[in-house]
Amino acid sequence: MQNGVTVNSVDYRNNHEIIQLLLSRGHVVNHPHPIYCECDDCERRQNTDSLKRSLSRLNAYKALSSPAFMALSSADPITTTFELRQEMMMVAEVEKEFKVSEGQTS
Ligand SMILES: [Zn+2]
Repeated sequence: MQNGVTVNSVDYRNNHEIIQLLLSRGHVVNHPHPIYCECDDCERRQNTDSLKRSLSRLNAYKALSSPAFMALSSADPITTTFELRQEMMMVAEVEKEFKVSEGQTS
């Protein structure tokens, strides 16, 4: 992420102005890697701080699923919403804390 700011790290969901400003400056939400990803970064994060990895994943999905972000970043927000919801439901089967927050993000 540029300038040390991540779209995932700030709670500005549904703040169109802030999201539009960040997107116009080239910031993006880093889409979480698949739940069983075995890349070096995921392996390292899983072995060093799996809770932090899970929270990072949860925050990323919260940002990705916010209506303002969808509207501003997707050419087809309806399809993107359904695809993201399906992905989040699969993750929730593994990462139980997602089930608690699912209602908050839909
Ligand atoms: Zn990975």
